[in-house]
Amino acid sequence: MNDSALAELGNKDNADPLYAVRHSLAHVLAQAVLEMRPGSTRGFGPPIDNGFYYDFVLSAPITPEDFPELESRMKDIIKAGQRFEREDLEVPAALARLEAMGEPYKAEYARELADRHGLTRLGFYTNGPFVDMCDGPHVGHTGKLPRGAFKIRSVAGAYWRGSEANQMMTRIYCWAYADKVTLEAEVKRHEEGLRRDHKKLGPQLDLYVIDPAIGKGLPLWMPNGTVIREELEKLAKEMEFQDAYQRVATPHVTLESLYYMSGHLPYYKASMFPPMVLEEAGEAGGEAVRETYYLKPMNCPHHHRIFAARKRSYRDLPLRLAEYGQVYRFEDHGALSGLLRVRGMCMNDAHIYCTEAQIEDEFLKVMRMHERYFEMLGIADFYMRLSLWDPDDPKGREKYVDNPAAWERTQNLVRQAMQKSGLPFVEVKGEAAFYGPKIDIQLKTVTGREETFSTNQLDFAVPGADRMNLVYTGPDGAEHHPYVIHRAPLGTHERFIAYLIEHFGGAFPTWLAPLQVRILPISERFNDYAARLDGELRRAQVRADVDRSDDKVGKKIREALTSKIPVVLVVGEQEQEGGTVTVRRYGEDAQASMPFSRFLAEIRAEIDGRVMRRAPGA
Ligand SMILES: [Zn+2]
Ligand SMILES: [Zn+2]
Repeated sequence: MNDSALAELGNKDNADPLYAVRHSLAHVLAQAVLEMRPGSTRGFGPPIDNGFYYDFVLSAPITPEDFPELESRMKDIIKAGQRFEREDLEVPAALARLEAMGEPYKAEYARELADRHGLTRLGFYTNGPFVDMCDGPHVGHTGKLPRGAFKIRSVAGAYWRGSEANQMMTRIYCWAYADKVTLEAEVKRHEEGLRRDHKKLGPQLDLYVIDPAIGKGLPLWMPNGTVIREELEKLAKEMEFQDAYQRVATPHVTLESLYYMSGHLPYYKASMFPPMVLEEAGEAGGEAVRETYYLKPMNCPHHHRIFAARKRSYRDLPLRLAEYGQVYRFEDHGALSGLLRVRGMCMNDAHIYCTEAQIEDEFLKVMRMHERYFEMLGIADFYMRLSLWDPDDPKGREKYVDNPAAWERTQNLVRQAMQKSGLPFVEVKGEAAFYGPKIDIQLKTVTGREETFSTNQLDFAVPGADRMNLVYTGPDGAEHHPYVIHRAPLGTHERFIAYLIEHFGGAFPTWLAPLQVRILPISERFNDYAARLDGELRRAQVRADVDRSDDKVGKKIREALTSKIPVVLVVGEQEQEGGTVTVRRYGEDAQASMPFSRFLAEIRAEIDGRVMRRAPGA
């Protein structure tokens, strides 16, 4: 088989020793399935990232109850040490063999390999009684396969060749690693990921809903989720204020012409919502007005117009304009997923207009801001990527502004700034924005997924004469174009909160938690005392409530734990008399009794300092 044909079967990677192991295990799984369900036929069975899968049309269903038997049959095959023997057959002989085996899907694929890819011979591997059309590679014999390092994971439906027009098959997924320790660690990480999945925890903690009556990919933020959004905005405002940013506000809809000026139209059109055409009668018998508007997909052009709205001098630079800006992007509905892929999002946006001499400092300050956020939130699993243009890319002229000298100069500036920052980074060609180099901050989520989480971009092109034509008067009295830094350290609320839900496993630090303190009176006799404490907490801007239900205290405490409320105050006779509270904290065994006034001072300090008392998710 040639490479392109093989690509259908998974990524062949001969350099990865696990590839042959996973591939061989797929044969062993298929052999076990055919023993258990005689008369079943087969589709593809490729290695994948965490193991492999194999597709079947089964003669009788396989359910998770069958997994132990299937695994034990696989282990028997491994124990038998069956040799993998290769044989290459001419196409007609290969087709006859597949026919005799009763494998119509494999035969269909063999015909395609011959007709479309021009193969004349096809590889077959035999081990024991089992035969599969396949190009390898395999381990020498089944005895070389790690018996304790695989585990059947799930069954799912999958169409033959991924097309809904085709036969529905049963796909059996299996984990496979080099050894048992790795397998167990990976399975555990996967389960932890499921437990922390924001699509599960988000609604469970009442943070957001996606309501079909509103539209796909347009989340509604519930009161609890709105608290988190506002706390993040408050944090961003404080940090940006310290670094002398100024806040601005811009509308959600804008005339089409602005997007031509900025370069978004026509290139970005596929990612924008369709236009709105507005018609109204002209004033005092004048001509009718017809205008086309778009929902804004980015805040940059608006901020640029704010820059352009006044005459700017070099003394005004750097000018830093910030906004938590709502934007709308048209994502294919199949790509939408919880808060991670949405059609409406609110972005921690800012644009810094500066001279070339100011780039390094400004860039560094943005990187420092990232560091402060990450430290505050206990985010350690990330790396920085300097994304460069690719002068050798044949499509480079469409992808990048054609100005090699500017690319070289700005890339060096960003590289120098990064070296000064002391932050480790890798360089990757061909990942730049069309208008300049950027730093991408890559985060690893608890499920092991890597995401570009935020970017810090240097733009030498959009302010230029043939686009937004932004100018300032230099010390020489002449007009110059500023550089622009586009930055969004906290990304969008949607993406960042999805990340934080999983990062903290829903147990937010006190300053971010929707409800910070729950007061539990041990009987209704203490409701008044509880209400008094509740009032005092609220006056001190602490988010508190009282559980007045008739449930037993034990049940109330369990309820508070499920909701991951950081602090529970238990109050009864003793507390009421002494003006004290018994403090129980989420994730901590010890409880402490203290005067209420002391508790209030402590929690206020904890919130003000945005203290993280526990490791994220612990
Ligand atoms: Zn194979
Ligand atoms: Zn921007």
